[in-house]
Amino acid sequence: MAEYLRSLNAAQHQAVIHDPKCPLQILAGPGSGKTRVLTCRVAHLVQHHRIAPNRLCAVTFTNKAANEMRKRLNTLIGEKKTQMLVMGTFHAICARYLRKYGAVIRVKNNFSICDADESKKIITRLLKDHVAYIKKKDMKVEPRDVMTAISKAKAKGLDAVALAAEAETGTGEKGAGDEFKRVVAMIFKDYSAELRRTNSLDFDDLLVYGVKLFTAAPDVLRDCRHILVDEFQDTNTMQYELMLCFARGHKCISIVGDPDQSIYGWRSAEVENIAKMCRDFPGTQQIYLEENYRSTGSILAISLAIVSQDKARINKGLHTSHGSGPTPSLIGVTNEIGEAAFIAREIKRLKAYSGGMLKWGDFAILLRFNALSRAIEIALQQESIPNRMLAGHKYFDRREVKDIIAYLQLIDNPDFDSAFVRAINVPKRSIGAKSVLEIQTAASASGISPMQFVEKIYAGTAPDIKPPIKRKLATFVKPIQDLRKLAYQGCPVQDIIQSLLEKISYETHLQSEEEWESRWDNVQELINFAAETANVAAQSSDESLPNLTLRRPVDDEENAKDRKREGKGKGKAKEQGQMVTRVIAVDSDEEDEEVIEFTEETPLRIFLQAATLSTDTEIQEQDESAGKVTISTCHAAKGLEWPVVFIPAVEAGTFPSWRSDDIHEERRLLYVACTRAQALLYLTYCRARMTAGEMGSKMLSDFIHRALNKNKALLGLQPPSIKDKEREFLAQLLNRQLPNKILIEAMISECRQASRSRDGDDVEPMELSVFGAASSFVTTENSQPPAYSS
Ligand code: ATP
Ligand code: MG
Repeated sequence: MAEYLRSLNAAQHQAVIHDPKCPLQILAGPGSGKTRVLTCRVAHLVQHHRIAPNRLCAVTFTNKAANEMRKRLNTLIGEKKTQMLVMGTFHAICARYLRKYGAVIRVKNNFSICDADESKKIITRLLKDHVAYIKKKDMKVEPRDVMTAISKAKAKGLDAVALAAEAETGTGEKGAGDEFKRVVAMIFKDYSAELRRTNSLDFDDLLVYGVKLFTAAPDVLRDCRHILVDEFQDTNTMQYELMLCFARGHKCISIVGDPDQSIYGWRSAEVENIAKMCRDFPGTQQIYLEENYRSTGSILAISLAIVSQDKARINKGLHTSHGSGPTPSLIGVTNEIGEAAFIAREIKRLKAYSGGMLKWGDFAILLRFNALSRAIEIALQQESIPNRMLAGHKYFDRREVKDIIAYLQLIDNPDFDSAFVRAINVPKRSIGAKSVLEIQTAASASGISPMQFVEKIYAGTAPDIKPPIKRKLATFVKPIQDLRKLAYQGCPVQDIIQSLLEKISYETHLQSEEEWESRWDNVQELINFAAETANVAAQSSDESLPNLTLRRPVDDEENAKDRKREGKGKGKAKEQGQMVTRVIAVDSDEEDEEVIEFTEETPLRIFLQAATLSTDTEIQEQDESAGKVTISTCHAAKGLEWPVVFIPAVEAGTFPSWRSDDIHEERRLLYVACTRAQALLYLTYCRARMTAGEMGSKMLSDFIHRALNKNKALLGLQPPSIKDKEREFLAQLLNRQLPNKILIEAMISECRQASRSRDGDDVEPMELSVFGAASSFVTTENSQPPAYSS
């Protein structure tokens, strides 16, 4: 039997070998092996059905999931074949196609990806132009709300014109004359123009333009033979459209999903896509998997007690192949500081107790909001517990990292104004905000970008704004121009960054700041990230996207405008500022068409894409993640698993979040979080919590309260007292060897002594009554859990 078919149960096996021509839905609960089945199905299509790997498209929900699938496939079908697969998130896949073929729809292949932060800055600025109208209508409009509304419109495939029409005709929820929508449509129009002007796409655009490209040039997908999608319950309309594009030629689709885990409705995911697919692809077969391989029985029991509170939910069979294991704990504490301290110490204690069986990387703390992480990060730091933030924008949000990225973006795309504004005066060149504004105005009057304009000043082909500026620009323009040449020659990004740092004396610039060493370390980390990306890029072969000769129609209005703007060169590369455009447009024999040829990616572009896309979902890990406790939002933890999971703040207002108006989705989110745990699960809550600078009293989440009302035994009110046999069970469950018993005893007693000498004797938790459900609180000062018996 083939390697990939071993260790599958009967239903999983059936799903893997299912006829490729018959559309397939694998619907099943968490931990039932959906992702494993999808991975094995890719292997089966390649090995058994002999489909060339570059004809398969496998879509994952996060970059991390794609990397994991890649690793597994490396062992199942070999590295060479894995390299050729078209694999990644919908966003990353679209970005790749757009880089190569975007010219068909007039997307330049050096477009920058505008992250949420930059989008918000642009929208905040554009909003100011409409202040008078907003005032007149007596409205209060927040940039954040506009941004969400634009994103939702794009996710549904609406552009500014369609949204404006909706506002007038009343096809939206609020009926005709929806003033907010009117304002959004106006800003949407300006925002789109701004992105176009700065040669950038936001995250939603990657999908929108992906659909446009595949519609305008279906040929680019002509080789695709099968599309596979993980986490299908969380696809939005645009992603569904993309799936249709990929499946157009063959209708061979395999999707896996779980309606109980649909948690992205707030980002326009449509769980109805599951039913839609059955309608669009008659004959779609559904296979259900019922055995959970991830969690213990008691973790599954509390998880199901939460999710089954939704009366409209369709009940699915789900049982575990493991024993019931230690009861999950519900721990009440006085405030967030006590909660964080409890979690940190409990992690330390469990790790010591396991005597090496559990590593830091086996623990995860899953948060409803990123903002809850502050106290926890401090507590972990105090206890010297290494940790990493998944789905935090932490790393790429750091000022010094953003500075360097901005330079790299300008090297690649001189039209990207946000990068220009960020980099022009870093390090300080005495070019103040006023001068920057003057440059922007003059550039705009000449119809070029500010970067191109300063390049002209520097070259002496445009008048100096204020005579000293030209001199000040030397340390800005020259490094960028020199490095641009290197970038286009395919120079490794590590070398470009090294050289940039020297040319702009960035280390000296940082030295004038407090804690400059750690900032400098972060910059060095970027060099590691560049090396890492180069490795990953080398793993995905360019052969997977065919070299085609494509044509684009030239008769639409937008094209005509663009052609006028760019000037039309016959058969030769055109100069755009200092940069040679990489797409060469040539007139074809047909009067209404242009033929487009393609060039390959530069390493810098691949790097920038990885950096910008990873800020959306997760930070790329440099160091061995086994060495760090994970802090993550519940959303980003989707699809992942850890032996020990803590979920803080299971309180009303957090679960469900006060911000959300979809209580069912909030419940499912808690379900997703609980089902990440393999062996031990902790839910913690506070009596009072500091939120936005104010201390407020808190109550236990109603989701937990209801589950307990049904069965109090689902949760223990103290940390589990783990005995030898449970320890053995855990070792078995995690497939790990039990370490030497003597070693464990020594470590436990050391750990106990250390904490006693710091905190005094262990304390008994006090009994309190919350919502009528008996619950125990550990006070802040005495957040020490009771000692384990061994
Ligand atoms: P989620 O809904 O959370 O994404 P999933 O259904 O995708 O979960 P997987 O992540 O594929 O589940 O599998 C969960 C765990 O169970 C993994 O560690 C996987 O290796 C393991 N597993 C799946 N099937 C089997 C099997 N037949 N035998 C042993 N282990 C299995
Ligand atoms: Mg999965």
